[in-house]
Amino acid sequence: MPELLPPSPTGTYDDPAVERLFRKQRLAASFRLFALFGYEEGIAGHITARDPEQTDTFWVNPFTMYFGHIRVSDLIQVNSEGEVIFGEHPVNRAAFAIHSQVHAARPDVVAAAHSHSIHGKAWSALGRLLEPLTQDVCAFYEDHSLFDDYTGVVIDTEEGKRIAHALGDNKAVILRNHGLLTVGHSVEEAAWWFITMDRSCQAQLLASAAGQTVHIDPEQAALTHSQVGHPLSGRANFKPLLDRIVRDQPDLLD
Ligand SMILES: [Zn+2]
Repeated sequence: MPELLPPSPTGTYDDPAVERLFRKQRLAASFRLFALFGYEEGIAGHITARDPEQTDTFWVNPFTMYFGHIRVSDLIQVNSEGEVIFGEHPVNRAAFAIHSQVHAARPDVVAAAHSHSIHGKAWSALGRLLEPLTQDVCAFYEDHSLFDDYTGVVIDTEEGKRIAHALGDNKAVILRNHGLLTVGHSVEEAAWWFITMDRSCQAQLLASAAGQTVHIDPEQAALTHSQVGHPLSGRANFKPLLDRIVRDQPDLLD
């Protein structure tokens, strides 16, 4: 059974082959977690990790494979033309159309996550940004945007470009009538931002349904953003989930 690579003390491994495996292990683990949390909806949803060497290519889940079955060896590599250059499985067209443009527009981004999670898509139907109602949602305070448009299933890279433009420099974008998309400087971050954003959507839906909500003051929300919204916080929050899924489902490392 392959071992889980620990994080590099310097942030990234100098050897691209090692860094690649490090990213792919976190990517496979993220799919298992998304399955565990019920974020899958048929063929919808994709998480991508930029290749550390061929930086205009990314690793992604195979089209039609259940998130909860994905192993490191199942991941496919896709180039900037949408061609599968490693792996036996086809790529989801929407995954290529959206993620290729996000990765191209944001060189700082290593990973991007998108799925049709229930609370994310329910919140997206309101066409509004999340409000600073809880400590956790402050990770997105003045750090998420709204793609205020919907024109059918995304199969065109022009649409992906417009989504990347709406994302801007933020860590997340709400795709109206569709769902959430998050990005990170690591796979851990992108996956954690997605998980905590979906839960934040759920929290706001619950609180708003229960009664009049109270906002965190702008100054305190900005301070909290610098704490819970920091890249290191994203990585730290992913760690217990990674430990859980690797212990419970070690075959994901195969
Ligand atoms: Zn989608």
